[in-house]
Amino acid sequence: MRPLAPQTSTLNQAELHPELIALLNAVAKVIAFFLFANICIHKMVNFEKTINSQQMDFFKPMNIADNQPDAKKTKGEVEKVKCLIIGSGPAGFTAAIYAARANLSPVMYEGLQPGGQLTTTTEVENFPGYPNGITGPEMMEDLKKQAIRFGTDVRWGLATAADLSGPKHLITIDEEKVIEAETVIIATGATAQYLGIPDEQKYAGSGVSACATCDGFFYRKKDVAVVGGGDTALEEAIYLAGLCKKVYMIVRRNVFRGSKVMQERAMKTPNIEILWKHQTQGLFGNGVVEGVDLIVNKGESNETTAKIKVDGFFLAIGHKPNSDIFKQYLETDEVGYIKTLGDTSKTKIPGVFACGDVMDPVYKQAITAAGSGCKAAIDAERYLSEI
Ligand SMILES: Cc1cc2nc3c(=O)[nH]c(=O)nc-3n(C[C@H](O)[C@H](O)[C@H](O)COP(=O)(O)OP(=O)(O)OC[C@H]3O[C@@H](n4cnc5c(N)ncnc54)[C@H](O)[C@@H]3O)c2cc1C
Repeated sequence: MRPLAPQTSTLNQAELHPELIALLNAVAKVIAFFLFANICIHKMVNFEKTINSQQMDFFKPMNIADNQPDAKKTKGEVEKVKCLIIGSGPAGFTAAIYAARANLSPVMYEGLQPGGQLTTTTEVENFPGYPNGITGPEMMEDLKKQAIRFGTDVRWGLATAADLSGPKHLITIDEEKVIEAETVIIATGATAQYLGIPDEQKYAGSGVSACATCDGFFYRKKDVAVVGGGDTALEEAIYLAGLCKKVYMIVRRNVFRGSKVMQERAMKTPNIEILWKHQTQGLFGNGVVEGVDLIVNKGESNETTAKIKVDGFFLAIGHKPNSDIFKQYLETDEVGYIKTLGDTSKTKIPGVFACGDVMDPVYKQAITAAGSGCKAAIDAERYLSEI
């Protein structure tokens, strides 16, 4: 039987070079190992990236803007929006709820105080719909959730400049990004003025208040002090006199700045005592306000000090509306409150609306701010449907 030549030949080669075959085998195994390892490492890296980004997303604060490429635009780029809401207090969020439900795709910038003034207070007992009261931060979180539910794009950021000179309304955010908005709803609120003494911070929410209508109820039948000599202070003192046992008015000068009518009313109220030429030096109390340290006749030869015992200390030295960046284009009163047309939220510039405390020198309540936010969104929607 004739042997098969090729088989004989291969066998012969293997027999001839066993070391070479072993070497080739080893090289092949090393290459296979490296290929396998490479694939594994690649997969692991990608897996880790996915997990990391998911974890990051989970722990990030809820923000619809994160899903929107436009929200990430940077310096020099202009983003066009239908409805821009500036401010995230009760006015801004109510405007957002209405605007979102009217398909205006509102974009909101929250500013430095997301949630607005109510986030600085504990109990809110006068907002309809909360029979047991609610804390300010909780209420604002609810409003935010409601606005987001209908598609409001809520973003971190501060409006730092405005150009309302032309038909396009340009708002600069954080000094870099520019938004071109068909409608702008200004809901930037107002900031209560404080004396600037450290004790105001120390006793914030524990006896210090900048809103008698909001907090007076907590001081029924107690003694309180009101600081200020203008109409606001007179109004607050008269309001508190109806609730409290005694109201001291701490007045820096020896005259009031408020209207004659209000002055007379305050002076005729039996449980209001006016402390002329008194200034607040500090507050005292164990955890809560128990009294006020005063300087009497400051800077004069008869300067002295005094103490009064009170449970509540009410600042009534005014509010500063957050309207500075718009003042150049919009009409404001002497304090800075934006003026709107008649009973609407319209400003003198078509497509620009104002709501809440920034345009309300009188009521300054969460419910009135929310109501005017509703008006602003409806006015914006009607404006857009008419152009
Ligand atoms: C301590 C305290 C307790 C109160 N308690 C009550 C109460 O019990 N009941 C009640 O009805 N009212 C209460 N008020 C009053 C109430 O908070 C205000 O009337 C209400 O918050 C006004 O709403 P707003 O939306 O107009 O403005 P704000 O709540 O002032 O909100 C303004 C918003 O605008 C933002 N903003 C400002 N400037 C800019 C900018 N340039 N760019 C972007 N965003 C900006 C801020 O960050 C903020 O989010 C209280 C107020 C205080 C201070």
